[in-house]
Amino acid sequence: MTPSNPNLQPDAPIRAPSSVPVDDAVLPFEVAPLDLRGRLTRLGPALDELLAKHDYPAPVAKLLGEAIVLTTLLGSSLKFDGRFILQTQTDGPVSLMIVDFRAPDKMRAYARFDAERLVPGLGTAALLGKGHLAMTVDQGPDMSRYQGLVALDGGTLEDAAHEYFLRSEQIPTKVRLAVGEEWRSGEEGGPTHRWRAGGMLLQFLPKAPERVQRDLHAGDVPDGVSADAVPEDDAWVEGQSLIGTVEDVELIDPDLSGERLLYRLFHERGVRVFAPSPLRAECSCSRDAVSGMLKSFEPQDRADMVKDDKVVVTCEFCSSVYEFTPQEAGVE
Ligand SMILES: [Zn+2]
Repeated sequence: MTPSNPNLQPDAPIRAPSSVPVDDAVLPFEVAPLDLRGRLTRLGPALDELLAKHDYPAPVAKLLGEAIVLTTLLGSSLKFDGRFILQTQTDGPVSLMIVDFRAPDKMRAYARFDAERLVPGLGTAALLGKGHLAMTVDQGPDMSRYQGLVALDGGTLEDAAHEYFLRSEQIPTKVRLAVGEEWRSGEEGGPTHRWRAGGMLLQFLPKAPERVQRDLHAGDVPDGVSADAVPEDDAWVEGQSLIGTVEDVELIDPDLSGERLLYRLFHERGVRVFAPSPLRAECSCSRDAVSGMLKSFEPQDRADMVKDDKVVVTCEFCSSVYEFTPQEAGVE
């Protein structure tokens, strides 16, 4: 990177992009000359840990991986110790996915699926089917919960994210998500398998708000004006075309650092990266929390859970098993 770009802050340190790949982190960045801001997620061991807690068939694991990446891109912007929950509910073979992100760094996730409907060759859209994607932001007991809802109607999670930003936030946004399996020859014989994922979110945030008007949906354009006739801002056209060149393999390549990928994309304009935020797989369940949940049930429901003189509860997120005696579970 050369220090010749006059649009960069004069006090911003300028250095070559690091070649050291950092997994399990979100890297915020900005391309100031184009009024672009974004985040880049790379997931390695933490994703593997989230998926390995369940014995998901590969297509389900890959789809849940996409939902996890999308969650990190959206949830990592929370400024408080809040929670961001992404949930899909659809009529396809994968009927439910929940990804729970607790700021600043904890993730947990699970999916429900119908094994009989998982025929080979189904893509994201077919696996999901139709339904909706809900995104809930919970910033603690003193703050109101916010929920955004978009239809999943035969599209991908990327499509749904674009629809969400267009409708709810009215911020021109592009999202890329990629999940892949990596096979490496293990030291003790057979190849080892790992999941990897990457994603990028790019947003056009010009200081002059009138520059975003052409990105509103056609229905919001005044009468007599064709949506196509409103020209897109040149900076956003360029931003979209640059993120459009990102290949899945670049997003998940374990040997390509996030900084190098960003430099590859935006070096002509000058890209500034900020400190990465680490991510990790960690559930929030506990024996106390499960016990509290049991006590909130109706007495008859608790009684119905007794099998072989005990009550067993398995956490759907992390597969931890909690065992209680009927007395401990509050069964009279
Ligand atoms: Zn758990």
